[in-house]
Amino acid sequence: MQEANWLDRARCRGMDPDRFFVRGIAQARPVIRVCERCPVRDQCLSYALDNDITFGVWGGLTERQRRAHQRKQFAEAS
Ligand code: SF4
Repeated sequence: MQEANWLDRARCRGMDPDRFFVRGIAQARPVIRVCERCPVRDQCLSYALDNDITFGVWGGLTERQRRAHQRKQFAEAS
């Protein structure tokens, strides 16, 4: 399964998932640092965007940063 492939290579594998579901950039910063060197960061971000996941850090971006990312992509496409 495609999804399982990238999850197997996730840098956060084995970490407490609750660390990725926090509110605010200050609390998210430590896990964002984990994501920065994750080999599947793009896949993770795409998964969150494709599935409208609105909470937590995915692909190194908080939910707020993902919304900004989507707005930017939309603006560039139009
Ligand atoms: S980008 Fe971050 S949240 Fe996504 S798989 Fe990698 S370490 Fe985990």
